[in-house]
Amino acid sequence: MKLDSYWLDTAPPFLDGQQGPLEGGAEVVVIGGGFTGLSAALELGRRGIPVTVLEAGRIAGEASGRNGGQCNTGLAHDYAALAERIGADKARDFYRAYENAVATVASIVSEEKIDCDFFRGGKIKLAAKPQHFDKLARTYDSLVRNVDPEVELIPPERIREEVGSDGFYGGLVQRNGAQMHMGKFGV
Ligand SMILES: Cc1cc2nc3c(=O)[nH]c(=O)nc-3n(C[C@H](O)[C@H](O)[C@H](O)COP(=O)(O)OP(=O)(O)OC[C@H]3O[C@@H](n4cnc5c(N)ncnc54)[C@H](O)[C@@H]3O)c2cc1C
Repeated sequence: MKLDSYWLDTAPPFLDGQQGPLEGGAEVVVIGGGFTGLSAALELGRRGIPVTVLEAGRIAGEASGRNGGQCNTGLAHDYAALAERIGADKARDFYRAYENAVATVASIVSEEKIDCDFFRGGKIKLAAKPQHFDKLARTYDSLVRNVDPEVELIPPERIREEVGSDGFYGGLVQRNGAQMHMGKFGV
């Protein structure tokens, strides 16, 4: 049995499409109405190129409508270790690519007036052990010096204010990350 996600269960229906075979021709066809295909179609449409999206199931009905709703800045990797491995310039470019991606989503939401609860709630990396905090502190130093002066290190004694729990040993907060309703964004 295939279950719908919360996003799909609570998204309004997609009303602009039609079912059945494609009648006549189309100048450009995009196959797949997930975020990859929809972004391509939007960009083509904005350039005045007529585009048809073919979707086998539901718009944003697969990974795009079944994900965590996170639109995050920052890397999954430890930034300090990454900068050591690939060099400060490449690591900075990598980090900024994420920032730009979130900014792109924010501008699509605003320009297309998409009501999808887009909210810059930020992202926190938590230290589950005391030694994790030392690593976060090194990452914080590297981020602030090289690429993101707004990142914030939360010491153990302030972590309850941030997450309502004493179960962690501090954290690293990146305020630019966002969350949104993926189903509403897709349709
Ligand atoms: C559990 C999970 C959690 C995730 N959490 C996050 C997150 O929090 N933040 C984040 O940024 N990313 C997250 N991701 C990743 C993100 O969801 C995907 O990278 C993104 O949705 C991929 O979009 P897509 O358009 O490439 O693929 P899809 O959304 O899968 O779209 C592909 C579409 O193509 C259609 N299709 C396929 N073949 C055909 C065909 N032959 N003809 C017509 N249609 C076809 C499918 O039906 C589908 O609708 C998560 C992914 C998963 C699985």
